[in-house]
Amino acid sequence: MEPVPQILGRQRRYGMAKLVFLLMMLVTIMPLANPALGGPPIRVMILDGQSAGPYHDWQHITPVLKRELEIAGLFQVDVVTAPPSNGDFNQFNPDFNKYQAIVLNYDGADWPTDLKTPFENYVKNGGGLVIVHAADNAFPRWRAFNEMIGIGGWRGRNETSGSMWYYSNGKVVPDYSPGFAGWMHAGDELYATLRGPGKNMMVLATAYSEPGNRGTGHEEPILITLAYGQGRIFHTTMGHDIAALSCVGFITTFQRGAEWAASGKVTQKVPATFPSAETVSLRIDIAAMDPRFHEGPQRPGH
Ligand code: ZN
Repeated sequence: MEPVPQILGRQRRYGMAKLVFLLMMLVTIMPLANPALGGPPIRVMILDGQSAGPYHDWQHITPVLKRELEIAGLFQVDVVTAPPSNGDFNQFNPDFNKYQAIVLNYDGADWPTDLKTPFENYVKNGGGLVIVHAADNAFPRWRAFNEMIGIGGWRGRNETSGSMWYYSNGKVVPDYSPGFAGWMHAGDELYATLRGPGKNMMVLATAYSEPGNRGTGHEEPILITLAYGQGRIFHTTMGHDIAALSCVGFITTFQRGAEWAASGKVTQKVPATFPSAETVSLRIDIAAMDPRFHEGPQRPGH
């Protein structure tokens, strides 16, 4: 048996209630950054760029992801932005190997082979990869990428992309029914019916997709770890917008997942403010990074 990556501390299963961030039942502030633990920082590249639609505000989300890593006190973060779909990828050759982990906040154009190959080699040879929310929408036809993410949605994914995967009776089980991939809920967004090869995939947390909210009635994977060659991948399907990113549950699992993907270890503690079965827990300083914060909660588009 593979050891379970301790990204969640003890294993926690998310109920839908905890994903309904709009309820904001309890607002708490997490203690400030861990002191740096000495030694060189973990170098992380946030690779961002075009989103397939305006409902993913990647330009404002990247600084939030960057800040969340920086307040952990362990990471040195660079942002690298890919050209837009009609842009020139010939000049875009990020030096993946300078980094212990790459955080993908990108759902744009397919990449040329000259870019795919070094990315595949980087992960295969032990690089860390973190997939946040809509990054699992990207590259529906790139086989290696789909093995890295395990499951993904939209962009024409269907039964040829792989089965759907649910948590049922203590096991992650495939569902081979035909149809399109990807369905989302209000709240954060609870991604459901994602599809993919699901190879070397460990599901750390699931959320119940409530039929009463047009859900599937299944326990859907929301936090996943995977192996690709020597590389470690942490995949969180959460994080649709800045309100969702301000959840202490998102922040903690993102920080710990990034450390695990980069190093294979997790040294950060789970804060006492981690949400519970009864409470939602937000960081207002993060929520306030949303330029529309003062207008109150809103979630445009699909
Ligand atoms: Zn979304």
